[in-house]
Formats: sequence, C-alpha cells, structure tokens
Amino acid sequence: MKIKADLHTHTVFSHGKNTIEEMVDRARQLGLDAIVISDHGRSHPLYGVKPENFKVMREEVDRLNQKYADIQVYLSVEANITGDDGTIDIGDEERQYCDWIYAGYHWVYIPHRIRDFFTLKLRNYFAKVLPFLRPAVQCRNTQTYLKMMDRYALKMITHPGDKCPIDIEKVAQKAAEKNIILEINPRHHHLNVEELKRIAKYGGRFAINSDAHTVNRVADVDSGIAWAEAAGIPKERIVNIRSENQ
Ligand SMILES: [Zn+2]
Ligand SMILES: [Zn+2]
Repeated sequence: MKIKADLHTHTVFSHGKNTIEEMVDRARQLGLDAIVISDHGRSHPLYGVKPENFKVMREEVDRLNQKYADIQVYLSVEANITGDDGTIDIGDEERQYCDWIYAGYHWVYIPHRIRDFFTLKLRNYFAKVLPFLRPAVQCRNTQTYLKMMDRYALKMITHPGDKCPIDIEKVAQKAAEKNIILEINPRHHHLNVEELKRIAKYGGRFAINSDAHTVNRVADVDSGIAWAEAAGIPKERIVNIRSENQ
C-alpha cells in the first residue's frame, strides 16, 4: 500500500520547521495528490495558531492551489480537546477559513474552564504517573471523546489513544456512526496493531498520516502502513491509500 495524500502536517504557523509552500513542494516531489496543512489549535500557549493567522494561511493555501495544478492543498487545524464536556478550541476563524476540523488530545493547552484543569488536564497527568488511576480516567476520557463527536462535525481524530487513555472500541463505534476518520499515526504509535484489530469490526474509516513537522517527514508513514496490513484493515477503508489503478 502507498498513500496518495498526507492529511496531517505542520508548518511554521505552529511549531513546524517549514513553510506551507515548502511542505507543498515536498509533497509534489513525492507525487502526492493532496496535502493537508493542520497546525495546532489556538489554545496551545506556545504552538497554537494565532487566530488572526488562519486568514493568512487560507490566502497562502488558495495561492498555492492557483499556482500548482498537480496537487490539492487543504487547510485544517488540529484542535485541542480543552474541556471535560468535549469542548475543542475552535472559534469563528477556524470555522470560516478551514476546509475541515481535526481534534486530538495533547499535553499542553489552556483548559476551556478552570474546572477542566482538574477534571481533564490533571487527571491525565495523574493517570500517566499513577497507573492504578488509569481505568477511572479512561472511562472519563471516553465520555469526553463521545461528547466531542456529538458536538462537532469533525473530519478526523488525530492519534486516538495517545497521551490520553480511552476505550478505543467505544470511540471507534461512535466514529463509525458519525463518519469520523480515525488516524493511524506512526509518529505517536496510535492507532497500533492491537487497537486496529479490536476496532476493525465497527466498520469505520482510517487515514495513515505522517504528522510531519519538517519537509523530510512528509508521507513518512511506512510503519503505519505495516500496522494496518498486520491488523488486516482493508485498503478500501483507508481514505488516503492509492488504489492500484490510480
Ligand atoms: Zn497531535
Ligand atoms: Zn499533529
């Protein structure tokens, strides 16, 4: 299997090392049909895209789509989950300028409300250092993910299961219902083979993405492809795999 599009990449607008055009050029060199620029959500205190930059990014993406006929460039955002109630950090700018929205859990973000510092952020730090807390924390996190999927029209959940324990079966079932793609992200080791085997039966869709923060990592997804193959995920259910006759 080979990918035809990289749906998750970062640029200098968050903490990537390259510009949008450099990432697009690399994707063109590799023969990809499409690339999605998906920098970090605004509530990351250091890396988050500044709200006023979404317009700037949109203009750059539109310019590159005009300039190059051999690739499609899309703009998204990797929103942070910032609230126990499933809140993610998108505002009017993301809604107005992005082609679609992704969401994922990260360690560093400004919580939506003060209580979320305790109910979401701290609970996941504790679950990391105190394994006996994990089952209870996993249960709460899963509820957070389910609420998020009910509240937002998400295109994809990035690296589900990384940084934040979740009941992957419940999340996969809901994602399939809502037509939300679950990501296989080799940079973050989730979804892994064991998780993929457990959730294959729910019939949802997947994408295998690099999460590249530099040009030399664009489309670097070989291990993710190997995991999907090892778990027996049919390529028809992986949205960015090139079919034989393409
Ligand atoms: Zn991420
Ligand atoms: Zn990312």
